Amino acid sequence: MGGTTEARLLAGRLAEDARVSVLLSLAGRTVVPVTMPAPVRSGGFGGVTGLVDFLKDRGTDILIDATHPFAVNISDNANKAAAIAGVPLITLCRPEWVRQRGDKWTEVTNTQSAIIALGEAPRRVFLTLGRQEAHVANAAPQHHYLVRSVEPIEPPLSVPGVDYLLDRGPFAVADDLALLRAHAIDVVVSKNSGGAASYSKIAAARALGIGVILVKRAQNSLGPSAETVDAVLDHVQDLIERGE
Ligand code: NAP
Repeated sequence: MGGTTEARLLAGRLAEDARVSVLLSLAGRTVVPVTMPAPVRSGGFGGVTGLVDFLKDRGTDILIDATHPFAVNISDNANKAAAIAGVPLITLCRPEWVRQRGDKWTEVTNTQSAIIALGEAPRRVFLTLGRQEAHVANAAPQHHYLVRSVEPIEPPLSVPGVDYLLDRGPFAVADDLALLRAHAIDVVVSKNSGGAASYSKIAAARALGIGVILVKRAQNSLGPSAETVDAVLDHVQDLIERGE
């Protein structure tokens, strides 16, 4: 189960292994996804029951949850469905970004709190919460927003001051530095997604001495977890060798 850079890379590595038949599952939210290096299915399964049926119908031997750290519903479903179907589950979860010297982070627990943390006074905000959650900004129309997303925000935000930037990572620090300067950004709003592809905005904010309002991950206790594509491949190798 994917929707992340790591899932795409992992699917490609597994597709090269003659012992493995891999199917990559996407939620189907992105209208124009990047080309995938393995066969793809798209759309929800229909909750835990639907996923259990899917795993059984396909005779699935291993389920890998390589969804985004903030996609908590599908991960919860995967955990439950794998247990019911008796299928080993490997969870690929990239490490969180960790505060570095010079970071001016305000950590919050959800996206609504991130917008409240901007305060009453108008600010120039770089908003990178993703297409599905950008609309929380409508609650604070006094700010000006620069919104970066892979696909257009639909419907557009209702705030009077907003610029949209369509772009897909990975992003470079030099480019994000130039972007923040060009738009006179004074605060960045982001999830603590982890990984390298979108870390550049965090590094750029640090270099410019501007604050970052960072949405923390929910604590979870999901099953056997790996932090990298290579670690997942090791788990898969083990399971194949043990014949599970
Ligand atoms: P979510 O709230 O955890 O999942 C909502 C529902 O979408 C799930 O219950 C499931 O429907 C379906 N779904 C999600 N991922 C799926 C997958 N890989 N394959 C098949 N069905 C899937 O997820 P979300 O936060 O909306 O994210 C949707 C997708 O975007 C995820 O695959 C995730 O990896 C990717 N993504 C999310 C974020 C983020 O910030 N949340 C950022 C980047 C990428 P059913 O219950 O019907 O099975």
